[in-house]
Amino acid sequence: MRICRFNEGRWGIVVGDEVADVTQFISGRFEARYPFPTYDVLIAALPELGADLRRVSEKAARLPIAAVRFEAPVANPGKLVAAPINYRKHLDEVRDQVEIHNNNAAHLKQIREIGLFLKATSSLIGPGRAVRLREPERRTDHEIELAVVIGRVADRVSARAALDYVAGYAIGLDITLRGPEERSLRKSIDTYSVLGPWLVTTDELSDVSGLAFQLSVNDEPRQAANTRDLVVDVPGLIEMASRFYTLHPGDVLFTGTPEGVGPVKPGDTIHAAIEGIGEMEVAVEAAADAS
Ligand code: MN
Repeated sequence: MRICRFNEGRWGIVVGDEVADVTQFISGRFEARYPFPTYDVLIAALPELGADLRRVSEKAARLPIAAVRFEAPVANPGKLVAAPINYRKHLDEVRDQVEIHNNNAAHLKQIREIGLFLKATSSLIGPGRAVRLREPERRTDHEIELAVVIGRVADRVSARAALDYVAGYAIGLDITLRGPEERSLRKSIDTYSVLGPWLVTTDELSDVSGLAFQLSVNDEPRQAANTRDLVVDVPGLIEMASRFYTLHPGDVLFTGTPEGVGPVKPGDTIHAAIEGIGEMEVAVEAAADAS
């Protein structure tokens, strides 16, 4: 099943090249009671709601995909977990290019030594919104990554069991300001985490160990790789993350980007596609002045 959020607060199930609007079914189900849970209540409820969602979507009003603006498919993630350099050829590329790593030795260390980092949840957008460059005079790069959405509470799970804790997958963009600051600061700028265009649940996509994916900017190919070349694979990343903190439904895990990262500038259009998930276009703009 392909679950999406669109047009500022609507929910949909993607069927072929259409979106079935299931907003009424979903919004009536969750009562907001303060303080709100720090995980995503819809993702947590998917195992119970799946069959009903499918049934409701068959009769729901439909819109063509091309006519909607997609929001991030997870509304309230508690954490955006991200892997640093997790493709061998990207590590070689970073070692070769001083402007990427800024002589910061930590950037050249292997993922198994330095572990994972966090991106602020306030940086998350869907492809219907633009990436807004906040430091236009500095280099800002695109990074396409397979994104994993956690489906149930995962506390110190083994790699062997890890895939049982996954709700599904989406395309992730880990937009990155280059420079000397900590990764989590440079990658947490508003709009610098893109998730979309929808969440493909594991009943439809169960094996992500060999997915081809690519990213282009204004039709110029920049990144093309396959998840089979991940240094630490999806089960390994879930084991690594859940050793340190409990993963909750709706937490998003950005699995790392391959070689070919490069700069974007205002006016660019990023096109990203992952086999088995789909494709999305994301505009790049200059950030508005502070208000
Ligand atoms: Mn990244």
